[in-house]
Amino acid sequence: MRRLKGAPDVTMKPETALLHAPHVAASQFDAVHPGTYRASSVFFSSMQAWRERDWTGKSGYVYGPHGTPTTFALEARVAQLEGGNHCLVCPSGLNAIALVYMTLLKPGDELLVPINVYGANRTFITQELMSWGVNVSIYDPTDLASLHFTKRTRLVWIEAPCSMTFEYPDLPALVALAHEHGALVALDNAWGAGIAFSPFDFGIDISVHALTKYASGGADVVMGAITVRDKALYDALKLCYMRLGLNVSGPDAESVLKGLLTLSLRYHAHDRSARQIAEHLRRNGKVARVMHPALKDSVGHAFWARDCGAAAGIFSVVFDVRYKQEDVDRFVDGLRLFRIGFSWGGPVSLAVSYGKSVATLRELEGELVRLSVGLEATSDLIADIDQALARL
Ligand SMILES: *Cc1c(COP(=O)(O)O)cnc(C)c1O
Repeated sequence: MRRLKGAPDVTMKPETALLHAPHVAASQFDAVHPGTYRASSVFFSSMQAWRERDWTGKSGYVYGPHGTPTTFALEARVAQLEGGNHCLVCPSGLNAIALVYMTLLKPGDELLVPINVYGANRTFITQELMSWGVNVSIYDPTDLASLHFTKRTRLVWIEAPCSMTFEYPDLPALVALAHEHGALVALDNAWGAGIAFSPFDFGIDISVHALTKYASGGADVVMGAITVRDKALYDALKLCYMRLGLNVSGPDAESVLKGLLTLSLRYHAHDRSARQIAEHLRRNGKVARVMHPALKDSVGHAFWARDCGAAAGIFSVVFDVRYKQEDVDRFVDGLRLFRIGFSWGGPVSLAVSYGKSVATLRELEGELVRLSVGLEATSDLIADIDQALARL
């Protein structure tokens, strides 16, 4: 039996006392990390406070999925990183994409997407969004004249650069064109990660960020974020998020908060290494083309050079036509440091042979392999690539 501090003068059985042992919320706690909070229920001080609960505000807490000090700290840092005002963390990058669509698009509305949009985004559009009566029109991100607007065009989706083939678009021109037609602009900012460029400087309305990639950096968390400047837009996204019952766990949010501390250093390290490897591959006669926006002969290089201060450490190579799928598989299987797997932005380098199966603006002359350069020593990665190329 023990007495509960601050509670009515009653004695309780140990099981009750354990549940009701009060603790002072750590408002004075100051350290590098805000701490890992996890909750379903959070307590209100009175019925009046419960009635006045605010599902979209961040000055109080309502329910675990609505937010904790850990997720709010993460959202504030991502908003700052991207140059936006309001951020919402989501269970995955793909979920963040889907949430933007589900919040903004109604039957009969039109969505404009690049022809070679990120594959899982495309699958959501074709399998879900279109079956719900949303019209989808595709455009070539290297050709402004290919965007066909109608009175119902609500949203233009942009990737900078394209996921597999890394063409870099004229972002400010695309944004201006969309706004001229009264459409909102959403950018998939997984590649830029808030480091290569500041997305809201280009006038976009929504930045969707796969925190899974560089922000986490550990290849151990899947998470996404949506950042906006407009509070009404944030509220609409947040209410849809709550209605869908989405949630991000405290430990995962804490893990991404740790990743953000070294994001910039890692991003530039990945970038340096990837550019050296890209140059090395470009000089190899077995490779027809290297697709990396920082290479002068890449599509949209001038836009990248104008708008970006860095590049992600991910790029694709197209092999010479004489190499068939089985040859290129032999190359990828022969790599020892580059592992085969989904995602990118983690510490370990990855390679996947997508062959000719990816959506592209122009037909590929040979088999495409995408390389995600990790944090291994560049010379070790180059030696690994050279020994695997020797198998061709
Ligand atoms: C990985 C990725 C996503 C999705 O992120 P997940 O967290 O894996 O769902 C979205 N867009 C691009 C360009 C990506 O590379």
